[in-house]
Amino acid sequence: MQYHSTRDNSISVSSAQAIKQGLSTEGGLFVPESFPEVSLDEIGSLAAKSYQDRADFVLKRFLTDFSNEDLRNCISAAYTKEKFGTEAIAPVYKINDSTYFLELWHGPTCAFKDMALQILPHFLTTSMRMTNENEEIIILVATSGDTGKAALEGFRDVNGTRIIVFYPDNGVSEIQKLQMVTQRGDNVSVAAVKGNFDDAQNGVKKIFTDNDYKKLLDRNGFKLSSANSINWGRLVPQIVYYFSAYADLLAAKEIELGDEINVVVPTGNFGNILASYYAKKMGLPIKKFICASNENNVLTDFIKTGVYDKNRRFHTTISPSMDILISSNLERFIYDISGCNDEIVTDLMTKLASDGIYTVPDDIKAKIEELFDAGCCDDKETMATIKKTFNADGYLMDTHTAVAKCVYDKYVERTGDMTKTVIASTASPFKFNQSVLIALEDYNAVAGKNEFELLAMLEEKSGMRVPVSLAELKERTPIFDTVVEKEQMKNTVSDFLKVE
Ligand SMILES: *Cc1c(COP(=O)(O)O)cnc(C)c1O
Repeated sequence: MQYHSTRDNSISVSSAQAIKQGLSTEGGLFVPESFPEVSLDEIGSLAAKSYQDRADFVLKRFLTDFSNEDLRNCISAAYTKEKFGTEAIAPVYKINDSTYFLELWHGPTCAFKDMALQILPHFLTTSMRMTNENEEIIILVATSGDTGKAALEGFRDVNGTRIIVFYPDNGVSEIQKLQMVTQRGDNVSVAAVKGNFDDAQNGVKKIFTDNDYKKLLDRNGFKLSSANSINWGRLVPQIVYYFSAYADLLAAKEIELGDEINVVVPTGNFGNILASYYAKKMGLPIKKFICASNENNVLTDFIKTGVYDKNRRFHTTISPSMDILISSNLERFIYDISGCNDEIVTDLMTKLASDGIYTVPDDIKAKIEELFDAGCCDDKETMATIKKTFNADGYLMDTHTAVAKCVYDKYVERTGDMTKTVIASTASPFKFNQSVLIALEDYNAVAGKNEFELLAMLEEKSGMRVPVSLAELKERTPIFDTVVEKEQMKNTVSDFLKVE
């Protein structure tokens, strides 16, 4: 299996090369040249298999240049019961005969980014070896909270890698900060940057584009890389859990082999929902993809009108991981739905960069409408959904998952479609404890409480256990107390790597 670029499909590279490189040289994203088809019988056989075997089933069809042994090693290093707290890795939770939650947050940082970031470091080091690179990989991350911690946990103590995470001094929640500054591992470093997320992000970008600095690192045996969400190595592991959910529904006799299901995905960068679309292309019986957004509803409008327009107010919401106006993985979808037309993609992405707006041709719009539905909701509706679902079904959701549930409820009301539906549940409610508690009670209930008091309150209220990785933060001593000026970020990297 070779990989093409969405902006130039004469480019053809192996999966190891695509993963090592991240982005294609002309700015396009790597996509598989075709989608391996699997039969219903093969899908049926997954019902009796473990998550690791299901992962092997999907991944080996895309990473065809990886040896069986290498792939097995990546999978078994990433998806362990020890890290995910459950044999199932991504369990499905039923609330009624048509609604199921696919819980993607049992990993070490309690959010779904773990599903990809636990395995990406292993893909990356394997790809380096396969392409005869001996340099040590240095991962630089600027984070607004979740990705930084998930990357730290994924890369921690992975041989041949080191990771440095920069977070905005006053731009992350108390619990996110604690998660990062207490990070363990021999190859990790964390620093606060004086400024906001953009300052941290710009600082990292500057280091990435500093060619003299790159040469200096190169002489010392280091190669800079990012754990960016557009890397193929982050997308491909996400296809697995849609097969796994279907297999779980088969095993529990909730569906018959061949039955179609709907999926609902709380969407930001369009990575997660794209993975479900790719699963359908491989043969997984999915009827509708329901794309759920918060008030940053650029995708809702796009799916309904064919016009992508990022020129709009940015909203800061209680589902911050979906506060996005440019969904980078949409480029891969447009490439596919346009029949792999790299010219259309290049044209639209150029318009997006220059004018912030583009319109897809009518035939593409019609295809999107056939497969996708979309909706959005504001913070008030999100909170009301958390409360309603907890009271009616005894199921507690975080704010992102609640956006999906809210949009799904509206979809059912509008269409009457009672097809069995899997809702992607993307974070533990404990990770967004304050908003969840306000939803269940009110503002007064949380006033003046610290993070650990909130966790304890939520535990009592919900009857669920606080995830161990959050509970133990209380006992951990901070290791990283560096605060740097944004101009000093390069020095921080040099100090960590001991280069000058
Ligand atoms: C990243 C994230 C999302 C959005 O996923 P995309 O793949 O970017 O669409 C949703 N929920 C949570 C909790 C996330 O961390």
